[in-house]
Amino acid sequence: MEEQFSKEIIMDALAGVMAPGATIDLVSDGSIRKVATCDGYVTVDVAMPKDAAQRDALERAITQKLHEAAKTSGAAIKQLKVMFVTEPENPSPQPPPRGSGSEDTSAMLPGVKRIIAVGAGKGGVGKSTISVNLAVALARQGHSVGILDADIYGPSLPTLLGLDGLEPTMHDNRLQVFYVHGVKAMTIGKLVDPEKPLIWRGPMAHGAFKQLAEQTDWGELDYLIIDLPPGTGDVPLTMAQMLKMTGAVVVCTPQKVARDDAIRAVRMFQQLKIDVLGIVENMSVFVGDDGKEYDIFGRGGAELMAQRLGLPFLGAVPLTMSLRQHSDAGTPLKNFAKSDATKPALENMAKQIEMQADLAQGRVGAQGPKLVVN
Ligand code: ADP
Repeated sequence: MEEQFSKEIIMDALAGVMAPGATIDLVSDGSIRKVATCDGYVTVDVAMPKDAAQRDALERAITQKLHEAAKTSGAAIKQLKVMFVTEPENPSPQPPPRGSGSEDTSAMLPGVKRIIAVGAGKGGVGKSTISVNLAVALARQGHSVGILDADIYGPSLPTLLGLDGLEPTMHDNRLQVFYVHGVKAMTIGKLVDPEKPLIWRGPMAHGAFKQLAEQTDWGELDYLIIDLPPGTGDVPLTMAQMLKMTGAVVVCTPQKVARDDAIRAVRMFQQLKIDVLGIVENMSVFVGDDGKEYDIFGRGGAELMAQRLGLPFLGAVPLTMSLRQHSDAGTPLKNFAKSDATKPALENMAKQIEMQADLAQGRVGAQGPKLVVN
């Protein structure tokens, strides 16, 4: 079987290229803005070199290195696009002017290094399932991870994390997180009566999200995963205004109707100036107990869409009986048991998202401690 030209191979190769006049390589100096690869089609977004006249030389150097890497790894490049971006995109909302009274993440969530939103064009595609398993997979890698269920229309974290019977507590006017399965969790589902229909209108959605984000005591976190409501509503807007986002992941099932909705979600994030880290294809194939794969929804549809949009593909998660059972039972750690059918796909997805988050971090500049000059 032909080798796939993976992002790791591409990044390794790019780490061997220097921009003209630079003293460190393109990856180390943060010039690589985005890398997408699918089925031999490769797109690399690179910051325009200081001297724009050097771009052709740089493009040649990149192309040469990637072709060399393809040869060595036994993978094939069918098409390579090197795109130069002039301005470092600034996906996060502009820092508020001094004295404006509004907050950014560093003021509001000072101990949180990276914030990743998980969105979807519509409900039922597995957005919450992916959020939970991403959080758990990152925690298993040794990161300190929080997950915020902001799906105010249909919060599912209480079920997926098995929070039934647990009640939220306040300490010093701060909501205390639930510490479960190695992650810290907070959900709007615990703050409202689960039997009551949630007819949150725009302003209420805004207030509910604001309260959750502001009042939860997250402490120190490497990653905060935000499970957004499906579609394009008020919560993402509030989130973009309040928090300094690292980026967003869009979850999509392979069939065409789902893809059209997912494209709208991608556009929404882009309009909100939130960096789209890429697309996850959920329910990619059905894997039966016999281990046989059934291509129900048309595997690869979301991957194709990612490629067309020039976005990274973050992995395909199969539809498995065990994932559904562990979700219903609120036992996500079982998805990472040695012989579990979904484990490799979930771990790969988390790895891809981590890598894209690294790149996004480079694009916006470090979000760690900030130097403030008065
Ligand atoms: P959303 O958040 O998009 O509305 P959920 O994550 O709540 O969707 O998932 C909907 C249902 O589908 C849940 O019962 C969940 O367990 C199930 N599910 C999601 N993804 C998978 C998968 N890959 N394999 C099996 N069941 C899945």
